[in-house]
Amino acid sequence: MRRSLIAGAGLGRIAGVPIGVNWSVLVLALLIAGALSEGTLPDTYPGYPNWAYDLTGVLAAVIFLVGLVAHELSHAIVANRNGFEVRRITLWMLGGVADVRGVSPGPGAEARIFAVGPLVSLLVGAFVGGVAAVLALAGLTGLVTGVLTWLAVVHLAIAALNLLPAAPLDGGRILRAALWRWRGDRTQANLTVAWVGRGLGTAVIALGLVALVRGSGLGAVWLALLGWFMLAAASTEEYRTNALETLSEVPVREVMTAQPQTVPPDASVADFLDHYVIRRGHNAFPLTEDGQPVALVTLDRVRQVPPERRGDTTMRQVACPRDQFTFTTPDEPVSDLLPRLNGCAEGRALVMSDGHLVGIVSSRDISRTIQRRAP
Ligand SMILES: [Zn+2]
Repeated sequence: MRRSLIAGAGLGRIAGVPIGVNWSVLVLALLIAGALSEGTLPDTYPGYPNWAYDLTGVLAAVIFLVGLVAHELSHAIVANRNGFEVRRITLWMLGGVADVRGVSPGPGAEARIFAVGPLVSLLVGAFVGGVAAVLALAGLTGLVTGVLTWLAVVHLAIAALNLLPAAPLDGGRILRAALWRWRGDRTQANLTVAWVGRGLGTAVIALGLVALVRGSGLGAVWLALLGWFMLAAASTEEYRTNALETLSEVPVREVMTAQPQTVPPDASVADFLDHYVIRRGHNAFPLTEDGQPVALVTLDRVRQVPPERRGDTTMRQVACPRDQFTFTTPDEPVSDLLPRLNGCAEGRALVMSDGHLVGIVSSRDISRTIQRRAP
């Protein structure tokens, strides 16, 4: 339900984490390959055949992308070690954004998670630069050494840019962790970082406009895009913080639907459709055995069963099993429940009290509460 600001296409999985790529990265990689092979390389290192420039340009763009993936992956690995669930990593023009879920392990762990990425970029930059230096010392000054030097500088720049103190850049997260530890107030830390991000975003847009007036077209557009992104991210961050703050005062009992309609797990889908849905108008149903919930089924899951199979498919077969959805209690603050909701039952949780099922809560119930209570 928290949607990433950056959409992207899938690239596959690395270390179990799905990696996506945003269009801006592909554009950037093409621009890098093009600019290097058509302009920078032939101008700086004349005398090579054309294919050598093309090949070097493409290789440089690939190494650039590999460097970005290494940066993001280091975040994912440290986050996993600290109990966060990393759902997806999306590469974009400044590196990547990891979609991280779960309850925060605290400011120290957050600082480590977000500091490791720039550190990896720094190390990649230092390593590639070191190789270039060794080659240069061995007397190999030319195309290869030149492109390695360029890659080293780019990775050092990625490390530096990601350290800008604006969320969702790593620097913003590190600043938040530091403020959180220092003042002990996570909400206030979030709002301060959003405020800094808005200021920085405005400054970057202004810089882009100045660059545009001075005639540096592509760089100016890139800066303006970056600034716009920082502004949008700051607003999202602020909205989210305020929403969570609101929800910290609301217990689950106030948003839940009490005494949900239950269904026996061995009822057939056809039976269920005839006797339950049409009469009740709810769209999620706990399956109970001896009064205990064993699974949770949503209408969407039921509808996926083709009509001819509905007679011999049981509800249990299409339900989300007990170990995959979330349980809560009537007194838990909604803000604590929110990060634990998952996709298995489309963000629904069952509310238990003294070992009995007393209610069901959906992410839609929660967003309705946010809208009602928002200042
Ligand atoms: Zn990063």
